[in-house]
Amino acid sequence: MEGRSALRARSIDSAIGASGLQTFSCDNLVIGAGPAGTSCAHWLARQGQDVLLVDQCAFPRHKVCGDGLIPDALAALARLGLLDEVLAKAHLVDHVRCVAPSSRAVEISAPMAVISRYCLDEILLKAALAQGASFKSNMHFERLSRESEPAGQVNGAWFRKLGEAVFVGARRVVLATGASAAALGAAGVSHRRAPSAMALRTIIRHPDLRGQISGLQVIWHRALSPGYAWIFPMSEHCYNMGIGVFDVAEAWPQHKLNLRSLYERFVAVNPLAGRLHNEGETILALKGAPLRSGLVGAKPWQEGLIICGEAIGSTYGLTGEGIGKAMETGIMAAESMLSSDAAQGLANAQTGPMYESSLQGLRARYAQYEKANRINRQPWLAELLIQWAARSERLRDWACDVLNEKRSPEDLVTVSGLMRLLLQKS
Ligand SMILES: Cc1cc2nc3c(=O)[nH]c(=O)nc-3n(C[C@H](O)[C@H](O)[C@H](O)COP(=O)(O)OP(=O)(O)OC[C@H]3O[C@@H](n4cnc5c(N)ncnc54)[C@H](O)[C@@H]3O)c2cc1C
Repeated sequence: MEGRSALRARSIDSAIGASGLQTFSCDNLVIGAGPAGTSCAHWLARQGQDVLLVDQCAFPRHKVCGDGLIPDALAALARLGLLDEVLAKAHLVDHVRCVAPSSRAVEISAPMAVISRYCLDEILLKAALAQGASFKSNMHFERLSRESEPAGQVNGAWFRKLGEAVFVGARRVVLATGASAAALGAAGVSHRRAPSAMALRTIIRHPDLRGQISGLQVIWHRALSPGYAWIFPMSEHCYNMGIGVFDVAEAWPQHKLNLRSLYERFVAVNPLAGRLHNEGETILALKGAPLRSGLVGAKPWQEGLIICGEAIGSTYGLTGEGIGKAMETGIMAAESMLSSDAAQGLANAQTGPMYESSLQGLRARYAQYEKANRINRQPWLAELLIQWAARSERLRDWACDVLNEKRSPEDLVTVSGLMRLLLQKS
């Protein structure tokens, strides 16, 4: 087995062949430096592994997101030892305010935070580097390299860096390129081209709304159906505001969603969104991006390759929250790689099955979130639940348990779950 320092030396030394091709080699190549890739690189590097992390962007970079950290994200940050650092830069909130189509609202308590992805992803990247990982920016992933024997095993990847071809040889590759269908297509892994959802956001500064927007706000309205909207307060009197629509996969690409007109409807029907839009200063312009949810849409591994984060649909249906689960699946991927090393030296064969079996533990929960997505399709259901929760402390407690992942969201949207609540009540 090659020692860490020898592997590190190999990864740092690059060779430029007669063709001008730049080549690098490393033990573990992680493609994509979002929450999934950086968490995976961090976890591997802190166990002494040789890790090269690459991204098509130079960091820090913006990522279209709602920027909300719910309890699972805070737990993952705590595992990485980064919670205090992130919270020190984030805007902290202690509840989410769910607003029904009738404007009736209910507040669900939980510790949460909002931080721009520009800032969060830079913290995650720096922490991975501090653990010993190396990083190369502007590396646009183009395709995987595979051995002929054993058939098809991944042994590196090809990139384009500022117009030049770059090859990185690796014992194993982690693909953490997010919801981009292009990167999954380039990897040649079987995947569903259509995303699960589309969403867009803007960031607006407004000095006078703090008293009115203290927690995260999630808004359902008939004018937004089949979507939902959010307004999340950030530091420095900024607000992340946007709309999302699930269920786009079935009708993709024939059914072209006009998210901008949905956004215009949102600012027309919601007075706070209207004030932000009309009076505020735009910090980041409206921009859309796809989401992949339900832990479906791509097979999570092949020989020599592990796929984690939103590339395998790690974002939750219903809420569209995915930062926490991207970090969790990144750490899971790293743990499977480390366990398979510990079990059998440097053989790769068991890594994929180990990873699959840890993902298996999450699948039931993802299916529940997909089912609970009914709320976004049927605004009357949001109305009913919010009206009921406004009167029922027990239902509010249930919703709080869902947010803290102690209860299934299915309980809130199925007849059997609601009957259970009614029976407990009497
Ligand atoms: C509008 C919107 C709002 C959202 N709001 C929230 C929210 O409030 N809270 C929440 O938890 N989640 C939210 N999400 C979901 C969240 O953004 C994702 O779940 C999360 O970013 C997934 O992390 P990841 O590391 O898997 O992928 P990403 O964060 O997408 O990171 C992937 C990385 O791979 C790189 N990459 C992609 N293609 C290539 C390539 N070909 N070559 C090299 N590098 C490449 C990218 O540059 C990027 O840095 C939202 C998503 C959207 C679209």
